[in-house]
Amino acid sequence: MFTELSAHARDLRDRLVAFMDEHIYPNERELLAPPPEPEKWAPRPLALALMEKARSAGLWNLFYNHGPEGQGLSNYEYSQLCEVLGRSLAAPEIFNCNAPDVGNMEILAAYGTPEQKEAWLRPLLAGEIRSCFAMTEPRVASSDATNIETSILRDGDDYVINGRKWWATGAPSQRCKVAIVMGKSEPEAAKHKQQSMILVPMDAPGLKVERALSVYGYEHAPLGHAEMVFDNVRVPAANMLLGEGRGFEIAQGRLGPGRIHHCMRFIGLAERALEIMCARARNRVAFGSSLAEMGGVRQLIGQSRCDIEQARLVTLKAAWMMDKVGNKAARSEIAVAKIVVPTLAGIVIDRAIQVHGGAGLSQDFFLAEAFAETRFLRIGDGPDEVHREALARNELSRQH
Ligand SMILES: Cc1cc2nc3c(=O)[nH]c(=O)nc-3n(C[C@H](O)[C@H](O)[C@H](O)COP(=O)(O)OP(=O)(O)OC[C@H]3O[C@@H](n4cnc5c(N)ncnc54)[C@H](O)[C@@H]3O)c2cc1C
Repeated sequence: MFTELSAHARDLRDRLVAFMDEHIYPNERELLAPPPEPEKWAPRPLALALMEKARSAGLWNLFYNHGPEGQGLSNYEYSQLCEVLGRSLAAPEIFNCNAPDVGNMEILAAYGTPEQKEAWLRPLLAGEIRSCFAMTEPRVASSDATNIETSILRDGDDYVINGRKWWATGAPSQRCKVAIVMGKSEPEAAKHKQQSMILVPMDAPGLKVERALSVYGYEHAPLGHAEMVFDNVRVPAANMLLGEGRGFEIAQGRLGPGRIHHCMRFIGLAERALEIMCARARNRVAFGSSLAEMGGVRQLIGQSRCDIEQARLVTLKAAWMMDKVGNKAARSEIAVAKIVVPTLAGIVIDRAIQVHGGAGLSQDFFLAEAFAETRFLRIGDGPDEVHREALARNELSRQH
């Protein structure tokens, strides 16, 4: 199954590693520090400067394989680069590889009309703007997306949108210019044909970002996560993506690659956590010996290596399957990775926190924020239970 990376992918990986060393790790603290209130959601000059550097270095849109704006990598190849850039929570945006923009660019590339691509995909690929994806709603259990209540109703040459969304990542940012909104356009249609996705400019009258949400207290500014209201928001009919009633079809296509990218980033974080766990254990002395000489700590380190290897293998298999048989046929492998990796990465990072003592919980190390990230992904992109349920359905239907 596993093949050597192409020379092109190897070269990109080597240059990515060097860029991380030179520009990301030394600036990580500053990039992740919460900005002061008035500039909280404004673009940061340091991030913009690093984005420009990454772009000039050709380390830009690494995920994208729909045209010359990207690097033409397979899922299997990109996964291995994603592990490198995933080592820092500050890095994905610098390479224009951050969620949810990646997923939104994939949607526009696959389903957008030429006009939609020119208006939104081109500036997204250029890193000039950011976007958000608004599916989840506070009023209904959104892990079952058929519950979504926001309405997208045709009125002459327009659609009119009404509803409340939350957890729209990226929406608080001043650079966020467009939302992909999922809602119901055909309430009488079959269960999975009622939903549509539509492009809504963030400055459309009636669209209001009401508040930012935090994850364990982290606001993730300047991108953030928003609760937002759509009050009779009117957009041209040409903003509909793919066609009325085809929202589920788009959602299925969008989430496969995104899930794998999250997984590879978490493997990068877990690798880095294991590295600093070992460094700390070697250098810290308690009760007359270094932590690295203590059996309990050695067990944590050995088991962490086992956990990371398992996580990486299931993810690479899923990426490889996506290349070989397509996202749809690889959905079980994607689901396995989506369940296994955040849990294992979270366990490894938690062990690193323990070995660091109080320091591990502080802002002086990346561990606490990384742990919060892994915890979120056991819910984001669909809770683990929903993916296990889908796996169980597959298994049971195969065996009767
Ligand atoms: C940091 C963060 C970023 C996010 N970014 C976005 C974004 O950009 N855009 C967006 O639209 N959404 C986003 N989300 C929302 C996320 O996708 C939803 O929270 C998720 O899909 C779950 O929906 P819910 O919160 O309504 O949970 P619910 O649907 O209310 O589910 C609650 C719990 O019920 C249980 N459950 C559900 N179904 C089953 C089942 N079949 N079997 C057993 N138990 C079950 C699970 O334990 C689940 O966690 C984000 C969330 C977070 C935390």
